[in-house]
Amino acid sequence: MKKKIASLAAVSVLGLSLFTGCSSTKQTEAKEKKEEQPILIQGPMPIEAEKFAGKLKNVKEETSGSFVFYKGTVDDYPVIVAKTGKGMENTAAATAVAIEKYDPIAIINQGTSGGHDPALNVFDIVLGERTVNLGSLKTGNMADEEGIEPTAWKPMDLMASEGSAGEDPNAEKIRYYDGDESLLAAADAVKDTYKKGKVVEGTIGSADVWNNEVDRIQWFHDKYGTSVEEMEGAAAAQIAGAYDVPFLGIRVLSNNKTNGGAYNPDTAAANQGYVYEVVKEYIREME
Ligand code: SAH
Repeated sequence: MKKKIASLAAVSVLGLSLFTGCSSTKQTEAKEKKEEQPILIQGPMPIEAEKFAGKLKNVKEETSGSFVFYKGTVDDYPVIVAKTGKGMENTAAATAVAIEKYDPIAIINQGTSGGHDPALNVFDIVLGERTVNLGSLKTGNMADEEGIEPTAWKPMDLMASEGSAGEDPNAEKIRYYDGDESLLAAADAVKDTYKKGKVVEGTIGSADVWNNEVDRIQWFHDKYGTSVEEMEGAAAAQIAGAYDVPFLGIRVLSNNKTNGGAYNPDTAAANQGYVYEVVKEYIREME
């Protein structure tokens, strides 16, 4: 009987050590996997991507279609800068390609934008607490010769159902994509390093449209709560969401029609300098 207990004990010790051995291998694997997954930083135009790409170490350039990927490191952690090209279609495709090819741990879409909030000035930065597609709209019913009435247009949620968004009344709502909390926390933590303006949380609106009509801008600001507009963020957020990859938009104001802020292309480099600090902080927080 004693012998049986002893051998049972031996078996359980063996079992335990096998178990712990196995779990520590798993932990190491998980850590290595995590370390391999790069952070992806997207910028649409050369002035919105190349400054950050220049800060990477050990850079290798790869292309896929018209998209350019600068693969390198920041503080020995893999970071890829993607020059996506302008607009929603380029950005959606470049995001899907990057996710399939590089399996990023997180995505930051950054660049310039136009202000919708008169309290924001050129060089201020908006962290996208949420991002929204401003081009996804359903018009009212107007007959021949009745004209057009843009302020009666309704938001249309293309993700609401698999049925017709044109017929489904449940699709007549605004679809917001939430910014990832860990990325927002990293961005918040380094706010004070940015000296060229303020850094605020807000709503980023996107569409393949450049709005210069102040009343229309005001309409988006009131209806959607937009802080700024640009042409990429919501497309990247939608695709990142489809693959469950943490996402954040970070946009500097390069112009603001609502308060006379003239376009200044130097804002693009300033934003990349700030996003670089955010990335370093995010890497520190992962360790
Ligand atoms: N002034 C440049 C603008 C390029 S197109 C030119 O004429 O060539 C717009 C690009 O700038 C997009 O990538 C978009 O994300 C960003 N952008 C900056 N301000 C914008 C605004 N007010 N409306 C829409 N996009 C804006």
